[in-house]
Amino acid sequence: MIPAARKRLAAIANSQIFENALLSNYTRFAIGGPAAVFFDTDDEAAFVQALKTVAEVSVPYLVIGGGTNLVVSDEGFQGVVLHYTGSAIHQDRSLLRIGAGAVLQDVVDQSIALGLKGLETMTGIPGYLGGAVYGNAGAYGHSIQELVRAIRVYDGSKVVVMPNDECQFRYRTSILDYFIGRSRLFGAREQRTVCDRARHSHDPRREVSTVDEVRGQHLQEPARS
Ligand SMILES: Cc1cc2nc3c(=O)[nH]c(=O)nc-3n(C[C@H](O)[C@H](O)[C@H](O)COP(=O)(O)OP(=O)(O)OC[C@H]3O[C@@H](n4cnc5c(N)ncnc54)[C@H](O)[C@@H]3O)c2cc1C
Repeated sequence: MIPAARKRLAAIANSQIFENALLSNYTRFAIGGPAAVFFDTDDEAAFVQALKTVAEVSVPYLVIGGGTNLVVSDEGFQGVVLHYTGSAIHQDRSLLRIGAGAVLQDVVDQSIALGLKGLETMTGIPGYLGGAVYGNAGAYGHSIQELVRAIRVYDGSKVVVMPNDECQFRYRTSILDYFIGRSRLFGAREQRTVCDRARHSHDPRREVSTVDEVRGQHLQEPARS
């Protein structure tokens, strides 16, 4: 399965694959053995193609962002790790369209530079925007769900735009957490070796966000006396 996946993933344009890539290079705590195949792209179409490929080949896979919420065994992962780094930020007045691979702190900094407020409560949370939406990250009594208008997700067959009220945001969780389909991703062995917040789902959908729409409010000039 893995050689077949490697061959097909290598043929996807605008992407890179690495064999036996050390996951310690991609986790916050710098621990973790090799992934049999590591697929890296900043291109949404390539990422979707890779998701289709791992499903068709039926190989275990794991989507990672900044790797801050992952603890990986020294044994590594006998499957495909998919890393999406699309991080473009487009502004439409108070709406930002942001690639899920953007570093969250960069999003905070950029939103402030663009004169928007709201995202500053996310300051200091490590990881990417996609990981933050997945886990409904937050701090100081606020969570990212307050700022997300919609997410673009691959639902297992196509890319769809899911509005906030369909994202099932709750404390440190979202629909991405429920429907990521871990029971399909990992066999028992892999479940022991690669873990994050364990939660099982038998829903066959695999939802992976690539772009999130985040809104802010324009900063007000301080009142002059
Ligand atoms: C020092 C430290 C401080 C922290 N402080 C906070 C805090 O204040 N508040 C807080 O909420 N959290 C905090 N965290 C936890 C962590 O920063 C968040 O959970 C973060 O949002 C994880 O993002 P990530 O990109 O690193 O995700 P990863 O660790 O790479 O992945 C986490 C999960 O998200 C999934 N995922 C990642 N990207 C995508 C995507 N594009 N589509 C679908 N699923 C995806 C992965 O499959 C995985 O299940 C802290 C962690 C550390 C180490």
